[in-house]
Amino acid sequence: MLPPTTQVDQKSAPEIEWRRPLLFAFPAAALAFLIGLLFDVPSGQGTLYDQISYPLALMLLLGFSVALWRRPILINTTVTGLVFAMSALFLGKLVFILFLMPQTQHVQLEMTETFFWIPALQVLSFFIPHLRSARNASIIFFALFSLVTLVYLIKAAFDGTSQGIVYALLELNLANVVLFSVTNRFIGFKEKYVRSASEYDTMRQLLGTDLLTGLPNRQRLDEVIKSATAEQRPFALLFIDLDGFKLINDTLGHIVGDLALQEAARRLQHPSDPHLFAARLSGDEFIVLAFTEPTDAQTTAKALLSSLSHPILAEGHIVSLTASIGISLYPEDASDTQELIQHADAAMYTVKSYGKNGVRRYEKATDSAIERLKQVERALTQAMTNGELSVMYQPICSLQDGVVRKLETLLRWTHPTLGSISATEFIPIAENNGQIIPLGTWALRAACHQARRWNDITGLPIIVSVNVSPLQFAQANFVDVVREALQEADLPASSLEIELTEGAVMRRIDMVKAYLRELQALGVKIAIDDFGTGYSSLAYLRDLPINCIKIDQSFIRDLSTPRRAPQFALALIEAVIGIADTLDLQVVAEGIETRKQLDMLRDLGCDLGQGYYLSRPLAEDAALEAFVAPALFAPRAMQSPLN
Ligand code: C2E
Ligand code: MG
Ligand code: MG
Repeated sequence: MLPPTTQVDQKSAPEIEWRRPLLFAFPAAALAFLIGLLFDVPSGQGTLYDQISYPLALMLLLGFSVALWRRPILINTTVTGLVFAMSALFLGKLVFILFLMPQTQHVQLEMTETFFWIPALQVLSFFIPHLRSARNASIIFFALFSLVTLVYLIKAAFDGTSQGIVYALLELNLANVVLFSVTNRFIGFKEKYVRSASEYDTMRQLLGTDLLTGLPNRQRLDEVIKSATAEQRPFALLFIDLDGFKLINDTLGHIVGDLALQEAARRLQHPSDPHLFAARLSGDEFIVLAFTEPTDAQTTAKALLSSLSHPILAEGHIVSLTASIGISLYPEDASDTQELIQHADAAMYTVKSYGKNGVRRYEKATDSAIERLKQVERALTQAMTNGELSVMYQPICSLQDGVVRKLETLLRWTHPTLGSISATEFIPIAENNGQIIPLGTWALRAACHQARRWNDITGLPIIVSVNVSPLQFAQANFVDVVREALQEADLPASSLEIELTEGAVMRRIDMVKAYLRELQALGVKIAIDDFGTGYSSLAYLRDLPINCIKIDQSFIRDLSTPRRAPQFALALIEAVIGIADTLDLQVVAEGIETRKQLDMLRDLGCDLGQGYYLSRPLAEDAALEAFVAPALFAPRAMQSPLN
């Protein structure tokens, strides 16, 4: 069960601190009036006004004390009421002694007594935060006291009242002004300081704390790991990922999801165990550091799994959580935060692939492949924005005369620390997580711009072929993306060829047919890449508007590898060339690496070829040189006998 949420009244919290001193101050002031009433008034010193006002003040103070004692939350009302009532009483007394009493030395004493209490009220109204109305009351009364004083001074100037009273009045008023302004300034300063100190605290809190669960966040985790590694204190890092959490969010909603995360966080946090430190990494990923014996890490992880597995009741739904936990050890497995997390993450991933709900210690031999995959996947998210991608162009030339007819666009990625990462490694990752869509669009636009530039320089029509992954091709706006790329580069559609694999073509054939017809209508050419490795149905070659078949390099390799049944490769290539002839399609042989392969393919009647023997993929300037070169290979008569 989730603990009930506790409501905290934010506003009342700071004032409540004043309750205790006021419960002491109010009765003390009441006692002062009681003494005045019992001894001062009967002695004949007290005025007529005192006889009425002292009992009133006494009752007010006692009444407010009782109110404050019984209802602590009434502190603001109590103080404001008291400031108002007592200020009014003192204002009345000042008017009484100055204008209604005989002007004797006795007046000075009464005045001093009155002016003694006024600052006490002012200070009271200013000390407690948020007491705006009490503050305003005290300012208004301060102005009224000054006004009464002024009227008295003007009157005294005309009727020649005792000078002693005038001087005393001036002194007391000036002392009050000093106190008033200093208090005002001091309180302002104090409030500002308190505010900035508490803002600083809140900021720190926010920076180090995850808002949803209240657990320390990644930043705080880094600090803790850093200080542990600085002290060389061994620990186990437990990477915890809730199983199927997305399903909870999707089926029961985000509120239930959030409650489940909060409860999971509560269970991972062991306030009673000082050896454990739990933090939330992101989403449904948590990290627990266990500062225990390395051998205990598995036990700790299993205990956490078991504590997570108790059902949670959230918003009327019963949610059962399981998790996958990967463990890495400091210092055995790694010495820096990043690596420790990566290792534990990879081990966690292996747990997931074995069926979830389990614990696993990182093992280099098994987990490093997954780790590399995750590392590449993470780095790939930044690759485009960090400008780490580029494109190379591999010439495709005629096997008859060696002249370059097309250039295939191939993506290249160089990461600052991982170095150059092969397209065969990162393209499948990007296809798996959908990043291929922006990457592919980027490559397509780059190729169109480049073709336009080459066209401007050479004045020759040029064809760039661009690889398009099945996922990219399946996007509803794919044809629009192609159209926009062409328009943006001002490139004729006849200069662009799209390379699709058989897999992409055979998926949702009706949709594919419609797209291909639209592309054909635009004037864009279509090539089937890696032909022979995918689906065996050949009917699509007849039914779809395809211009070119690219025979996969594995068959070309087999041509010259005696152990790998060259007859089959030869038969397949012959058959493909035959079909292509009938259907009037172009044929490209991919991966030509030797002169022998080149000659065999030419003899078989293959139109075009591509491969390291002819040219490796080239940067734009070199690709331009290859494009304008008379031929990429020497005619047969000039071949070296060694090849
Ligand atoms: P692909 O489209 O079949 O491209 C040909 C691949 O074979 C390229 O590898 C090229 O460098 C390589 N190659 C060319 N000639 C030879 C040769 O003689 N011998 C050998 N062993 N290899 C040769 P690369 O650049 O590593 O690309 C691998 C695959 O990644 C490509 O295969 C393509 O499927 C994919 N790819 C590359 N760029 C893109 C892109 O922009 N978008 C998409 N969707 N896929 C791309
Ligand atoms: Mg290709
Ligand atoms: Mg290919």
